[in-house]
Amino acid sequence: MSNPRRERPYLFYNATRALCSTCLQTVDAKEVIEDGKVILQKRCLEHGLERVLLSDDVEYFRLCREVFLKPPEQPAHYNTGIRYGCPYDCGICPDHEQHGCVSLLEITDHCNLECPTCFAQSGPHRQTHRSMDQIESMLDCIVRNETEPDVVQVSGGEPTVHPQFFEILDACRRRPIRHLMVNTNGVKIAASKPFAQRLASYAPGFEIYLQFDGLRAPESVALRGKELFDTKKRALENLEEVGLSTTLVVTLMRGLNDDQIGEIIAFAKSYRCIRGVTFQPVYDEGRNTPFDLEKNRLTLSEVRRRIYEQAPEFLPEDIIPVPCHSDSLAMAYAVRGEGENYQDIAPLTRFVPPEVLLQGPENTILYEGKPELLKQLQDALFNTFSTAHGPESASTALGNLLCCLPRVEAVPDLSYDRVFRVVIMQFLDRHSMDLRSVRKSCVHIASPDGKRMIPFDTFNLFYREPEQRARLEEIRRGKPSLPIAP
Ligand code: SF4
Ligand code: SF4
Repeated sequence: MSNPRRERPYLFYNATRALCSTCLQTVDAKEVIEDGKVILQKRCLEHGLERVLLSDDVEYFRLCREVFLKPPEQPAHYNTGIRYGCPYDCGICPDHEQHGCVSLLEITDHCNLECPTCFAQSGPHRQTHRSMDQIESMLDCIVRNETEPDVVQVSGGEPTVHPQFFEILDACRRRPIRHLMVNTNGVKIAASKPFAQRLASYAPGFEIYLQFDGLRAPESVALRGKELFDTKKRALENLEEVGLSTTLVVTLMRGLNDDQIGEIIAFAKSYRCIRGVTFQPVYDEGRNTPFDLEKNRLTLSEVRRRIYEQAPEFLPEDIIPVPCHSDSLAMAYAVRGEGENYQDIAPLTRFVPPEVLLQGPENTILYEGKPELLKQLQDALFNTFSTAHGPESASTALGNLLCCLPRVEAVPDLSYDRVFRVVIMQFLDRHSMDLRSVRKSCVHIASPDGKRMIPFDTFNLFYREPEQRARLEEIRRGKPSLPIAP
């Protein structure tokens, strides 16, 4: 059919800057809406055109970009000046738009597994543990930036194999950290009840972030190199016995375990100690052996759809953008039943009108003529939907939100063990990185030099390994040398 107006086959939504996935130079890019999808279209003068799917849900995408917005919160301290331009100045530089809701502390390169998928490229062959002095200076850097860090996640490699692991937890506890997490594969927790008991002595304000990729063998073998379901179950039995708050962390790969989301949520509900599940779509950095960009990549909107299709408790309105970085984060809350009914979960739409959640508080008619109450509701909603919470503060935030709503007849008892959260956390890689979005990254990692916090997304591209840092230096050498701007 002729097209006399010579219309583009898409709607132009926005212009931005992105990265060429081959040379990692910044390039001009457009976000376009085409056939119900949002595409990042970028062109490198040397390596040509790339088109990357950002979302398969235009309505949700626009909600993230146009409604779930809040003024960015800044760190107390910037670590670098502006010299080469984003993303080559990390960081945190003064152009960054969000403080660290989660601060990562990697204490070792060593691991007791060697997963085919590992952004840190860890394994038994890597023997370097960070020294206590180095770790103290990295912790000081976290506190300098955040003053009272909301969440610090001790990570690796596998952090529990560090010979001074408990000294490191003590060093964390000496600082004004609100919530401490240990990011672990669970092998040591499975092997030793006394180890789990000792971990539990750090509660409250302490949580295990347990790698858990599904209930079947093939995905465990593909992602972790061996069958680990029994190990994870033993770890969970030990954690259940000591009553230690745990979040399951699932690496999701299209065609491998994305059909298991509902079963994983059902499994999570069956343990009292589990406070929720975080789904992280696999991304193309680090060691990533079975990953095929065309076949295995998943966007946040695709994961969101799978959650409400596979876990019937949740409606689409329950899974809403996290406003500090809505491109990369979505979250749903539910309340567990009392006593023996702990496996029954009631999502937030049972208590809050769906339009308040999904359309954003601005559109709700509940508060017409009462702007001050509307503002209170907006603050409470945005404060609740944040990754800066552990289970205790999440239950307080949820209680505050429910108290703001006139139609909530019975606010349930919200002790921290009755709150269940489902989170989607998507990191940006060389394909999806967009300089508008990465500036809002709120997961920051302490650089081993103890001098800088770096957005996790750029750390894995430019700052982690010597060869990445060498490539960054090469890119920087090709840039005009500007005086450092404060
Ligand atoms: S990602 Fe953030 S910290 Fe890094 S250069 Fe860009 S604005 Fe600065
Ligand atoms: S993904 Fe975790 S468990 Fe696997 S090798 Fe890397 S650090 Fe170890």
